[in-house]
Amino acid sequence: MTMTLTVPPRTTGSRRDGLPVAVIGAGPVGLAAAAHLLERGLEVTVFEAGDRAGSAVAEWAHTRLFSPWTYLIDPAGRRLLEATGWTAPHGDRSPTGAELLERYLTPLARTPELESRLRLNSRVVAVSRQGMDRTRSTGRADTPFLLRIEHEGAVTEMLARAVVDTSGTWRSPNPLTAAGLDPATGASDRVVTGLPDVLGRDRGRFAGKRVLVVGAGHSAANTLLALDQLARTAPGTSISWAIRNRSAERIFTADDDGLPDRASIGQRVDALVRDGRIALVDRFEIDDLEPADDSANEGGDGPVRVRGRRAGRSAVVEADVIVNATGFRPDLEPLREIRLGLDEIVEAPRMLAPLIDPNLHSCGSVPPHGVTELTHPEADFFIAGMKSYGRAPTFLLATGYEQVRSIADELAGNRDAARVVNLVLPETGVCSTSTSSDDSACCG
Ligand SMILES: Cc1cc2nc3c(=O)[nH]c(=O)nc-3n(C[C@H](O)[C@H](O)[C@H](O)COP(=O)(O)OP(=O)(O)OC[C@H]3O[C@@H](n4cnc5c(N)ncnc54)[C@H](O)[C@@H]3O)c2cc1C
Repeated sequence: MTMTLTVPPRTTGSRRDGLPVAVIGAGPVGLAAAAHLLERGLEVTVFEAGDRAGSAVAEWAHTRLFSPWTYLIDPAGRRLLEATGWTAPHGDRSPTGAELLERYLTPLARTPELESRLRLNSRVVAVSRQGMDRTRSTGRADTPFLLRIEHEGAVTEMLARAVVDTSGTWRSPNPLTAAGLDPATGASDRVVTGLPDVLGRDRGRFAGKRVLVVGAGHSAANTLLALDQLARTAPGTSISWAIRNRSAERIFTADDDGLPDRASIGQRVDALVRDGRIALVDRFEIDDLEPADDSANEGGDGPVRVRGRRAGRSAVVEADVIVNATGFRPDLEPLREIRLGLDEIVEAPRMLAPLIDPNLHSCGSVPPHGVTELTHPEADFFIAGMKSYGRAPTFLLATGYEQVRSIADELAGNRDAARVVNLVLPETGVCSTSTSSDDSACCG
């Protein structure tokens, strides 16, 4: 049996009456936001840049998550799904990204309530207020938001009563150099970002090559493990691993990790380093890349020299392909006309930043938080999900689900409920990091 939510119009005498809440991004947190808003009688439109819900997850579908199902399903999403006869996946084993899509995100996006409100292939390129740039204040809070959207080559605009930006950070990886800039001298076509499918889709790019993986987080560790498997069957494949610090202690010392799937990854990489299967280049700060041999580079697949400093001295590592696993940062460009209150270092909302400071917190020790910590100077505008953590690598989905529950209550006028936040996360010791670009997401 399906449950169809009919949303009554909200009237408060505001110019924003009758307009939907715009949710940017149909990842796990964006879909959860939409489910919570609909439950509270607020109309919603979800814009997704990709051709499917969860399109960022689809790019790392071959990777296994660390959290078991209990922490991956949003309560409001679950209620929508259960009304369709869906059975919740369970079990202690964490799913892969593909399983998360197949068993949860795709069915959720296909519920009649969400499907009719989801705009695919619709990238939000700018957010402002109708007829008001960020300098104008009079009547601002009462003025509808204006979103500019690219859809199939055309640009459209729509108005919204509030905006929840859950667009994640997957599409804005940290640049490779220690200075946080893209390499100046080119050869960037030799760099692969994120989590390549080394044993599947992207095998040809790595088989028989000298591969340099850069980054000290679990994304790097996942790729290193896959490369080692590849090297066992593809002769000539060699693996180097560059990190900024003396050791990747964070992923190696994971005995107290509350997420056992993640703990074992670090231990396996550690063993490969000790066995000499992975050459660890520690204390390496990258300055630039350059083609190693001009003639070999005409086709764009020759070797590349990675120039930098190692323990204060000039150093060079040569590779055929580089995997940039140095983490992600939020794309703030579409939000230029919005009054954001962001921490100068991690680019998270100001009150949230000290709570997620990766120098102090791991994934599980981040205190539960909601609308109070996520508020910006711009009324009724929120950043939630992965993007709300800015450059901090400690985000977990369960946290994001509670964020959007609290935001939905606030937008629905349930101010007390919005301020009561409840969340129990697995305690874990593996994510305490510096904020350097060497440290990729603890959870990714
Ligand atoms: C390999 C990996 C493993 C992880 N494992 C775990 C785990 O075990 N447990 C856990 O709790 N967390 C885990 N995480 C962290 C985190 O929970 C996930 O990254 C999660 O996908 C974040 O959800 P999100 O909805 O905030 O963002 P995303 O999943 O990134 O979704 C954002 C969506 O917004 C869309 N979008 C982007 N820009 C625009 C735009 N301008 N307009 C419209 N749409 C846009 C994207 O296409 C995307 O679909 C993992 C992350 C990775 C990478």
